[in-house]
Amino acid sequence: PDMSAVSVPPPKRLQKPLVVPHRHMFGPGPSNVPPRILEAGANPVIGHMHPEIFEIMNDIKSGIQYLFQTQNNMTLAVSGTGHTAMECAIFNTVEPGDSVLTAVNGIWGERAAEMAERIGARVNSIVTPPGGYFTNAEIEQALLKYRPALFFLAHGESSTGVLHPLDGIGQLCHKYNCLFLVDSVASLGGAPLYMDKQGIDILYTGSQKVLNAPPGTAPISFSERACQKIFNRKSKPVSFFLDLSWLANYWGCDGKASRTYHHTGPVTAFYSLRESLAVLVEEGLENSWDRHQKVAEYFHRGLESMGLKLFKARLPTVTTIVAPRGYNWKDITSYIMKTHNLEISGGLGPSVGLVLRVGLMGRNSSKHSADMVLAALKDALQHCHKSKV
Ligand code: PMP
Repeated sequence: PDMSAVSVPPPKRLQKPLVVPHRHMFGPGPSNVPPRILEAGANPVIGHMHPEIFEIMNDIKSGIQYLFQTQNNMTLAVSGTGHTAMECAIFNTVEPGDSVLTAVNGIWGERAAEMAERIGARVNSIVTPPGGYFTNAEIEQALLKYRPALFFLAHGESSTGVLHPLDGIGQLCHKYNCLFLVDSVASLGGAPLYMDKQGIDILYTGSQKVLNAPPGTAPISFSERACQKIFNRKSKPVSFFLDLSWLANYWGCDGKASRTYHHTGPVTAFYSLRESLAVLVEEGLENSWDRHQKVAEYFHRGLESMGLKLFKARLPTVTTIVAPRGYNWKDITSYIMKTHNLEISGGLGPSVGLVLRVGLMGRNSSKHSADMVLAALKDALQHCHKSKV
């Protein structure tokens, strides 16, 4: 072959301009990014090791400490989505052979179990059907039975719409010498959570839900107890990229005078994340919780007055509606996308086919957005095919 000639021609499709539609993002995520946060991300790219970027990272760290209600020094944002933070939490704390317990009341406990299994943990789960949650007594029983080193729980189970109560669980975990890991990707900023007071050892969230930043960064924080286990492990974590000793240095959390290159931080994503935290600081956490709660109640009343049933919704950010009888749920979501330019979604994992899911998060949590979804649903129920049931 002629080594000096290209054999793959330039693709025609890349010669057309980029087109991205405007859309109402009222599914379980990502949510719409307000112009202020989008514009922050359009600032110039400078070096990920430049002092200005370290200042921005310090701002982000303070913002996360406020958002999480924690004094933890080991607080940072991983480069990646919610799943990256999940793996960062599990890969750093769990060693092969460790016992891990996950609470499964939707897809997230299943995924956490799979991640722990992949690195050779002994994994057990407590399981309840979609829509359910666990009492502290049930959790204590499982802690006693399995003696796990780590217990995983989703605060906001976005696949089923359940907001899991947290009070007392951290204390139970500590009684049995277990770390308490909480996923708050779908709930943080939209429902009350107090990392330190609730004894949570590892907490993470995502940028693309209540924070209204683009997907791609994931705030995470580790308690002193979690750090004790992580920095005294016998084997190195399987992931170099997610190794907390490296990340701690990159985020200036290890007390060392200088930071070493680990990976190229997504600086423009940091700008947006910083701005999204600044927006939250301006509104105040309690006001944000309050607004999400009030809008959720207004939205739920509207749904019920249309004759729709809620799937035990308690989560103020993501509402699960029992899939209306006689309809194919896909007809409803596609009709609403086509006719109203609005995203809502079907179920996920164990809730597939059972529910429709609507997310009203961050700036999207408003009566105006709720009214738009209600009108779109009303229209869809009139126009989509309904079988006789
Ligand atoms: N946990 C929960 C509760 C979530 O809702 C999501 C996102 N749907 C994730 C984890 C995973 O986040 P990501 O899609 O950003 O990886």
